Amino acid sequence: MDYSSFRPESLMMSYGYKPALSEGAIKCPIFQTSTFVFDSAEQGKRFFEVAYGLSEKEEDEELGLIYSRLNNPDLEILENRLCLWDKAEDCAVFESGMSAISTAIMEFMAPGDLLLYSRPVYGGTDHFINHFLKKLNIEAIGFMAGESEEEIIERIEATGKGAHLTMIHIETPANPTNALIDIEMCARIKEHFSTEEKPVVLSVDNTYMGPLWQHPLKHGADLVLYSATKYIGGHSDVIAGACLGSKELIARVKGLRTFLGNMAGPWTGWLLMRSLETLKVRMDQQASNAQKVAEFLNNHPKVEHVYYLGNTAKNGTEEEKALIARQYTSHGAMIAFDVIGGEAEAFSFLNNLKLIKLAVSLGGTESLAEHPQTMTHADVDQEAKSIMNITEKLIRLSIGVEHYSDLIRDIDQALNA
Ligand SMILES: *Cc1c(COP(=O)(O)O)cnc(C)c1O
Repeated sequence: MDYSSFRPESLMMSYGYKPALSEGAIKCPIFQTSTFVFDSAEQGKRFFEVAYGLSEKEEDEELGLIYSRLNNPDLEILENRLCLWDKAEDCAVFESGMSAISTAIMEFMAPGDLLLYSRPVYGGTDHFINHFLKKLNIEAIGFMAGESEEEIIERIEATGKGAHLTMIHIETPANPTNALIDIEMCARIKEHFSTEEKPVVLSVDNTYMGPLWQHPLKHGADLVLYSATKYIGGHSDVIAGACLGSKELIARVKGLRTFLGNMAGPWTGWLLMRSLETLKVRMDQQASNAQKVAEFLNNHPKVEHVYYLGNTAKNGTEEEKALIARQYTSHGAMIAFDVIGGEAEAFSFLNNLKLIKLAVSLGGTESLAEHPQTMTHADVDQEAKSIMNITEKLIRLSIGVEHYSDLIRDIDQALNA
């Protein structure tokens, strides 16, 4: 039986780790070391040749470690384990989600290039695109959920810069209202503008649904990006990020990571490996709790509208239903809803929560609530906010692993307060 044919959740405790290399320890130790000793000068020379791309790795060659900015067991084993969920060839782990996103974009884009991105994207990503990339003379065009393939292609062509499109970066479902973007449609737009000399790279920020409930590589994406701070870390105690894709693309991303020096440290790698052991049970519980909470909100007299994939799967257009069936294996654990009223009513709800904490971030074991209009999305322009239904009355919930009936009791008393 092939060991690697087991399901990812069965492999998270052991995959890629050889106890014999660590005194038989069942768990991978924290390799808190900056550098690694070579057996001989010849061996050191060989490791560097491969690390710097001066020579190809041989078929069965076992390469050792060099220096913790390039590689470290806690990072490499973590990267191997993350690959299993997305069926990716390779992975690079970073010290934050933002460093994964910014490094990938900087590796595949150059001054004069054009970026297509979905709106709204994560606030940090939006700032990076519209401030930092602008400084590098990299232009960006945004599109929203619901725009058709033809409309988007037409808009790119109208700029006269279609030949310079080198990257498409999307987030789906969109934060905070769970609006849907079709990854396969983006892959077709990518093909439309790709040429032999200039293939367009399609990257998907899969933080909201991954690595369990959406697998972008299967739908034609080239890169999957994560804030591992969210579901992957899952305990709101670590900041980290990851980028996954083909060996060829990840070799480029790792190349830039080596020189920016924004890899995760060994302690972060160790924490994330520990988190991955419970990823599946945590996320299953979170999704099942979210479904119960959404059903409760759907029927609450103080709630006007609930934005939840499970609702779209039931009441959406035929197109949306087909997209959900194709792209997602769960309705996720993120819910947004409109309270009846405005900012005062929304704030009163937030201030009266007892068990659910008032904080941004998502995907952790504890449930969180926040107000996108004045918090996570404060920086998004008002036009985009109105199109996305990000208004004063909107609340965003990240559902954790508590007992669902306690979450419902807390939400009910805060709505009635
Ligand atoms: C949190 C988040 C990020 C940024 O990740 P950090 O780990 O905070 O750097 C990027 N994208 C999405 C969708 C996020 O939720």
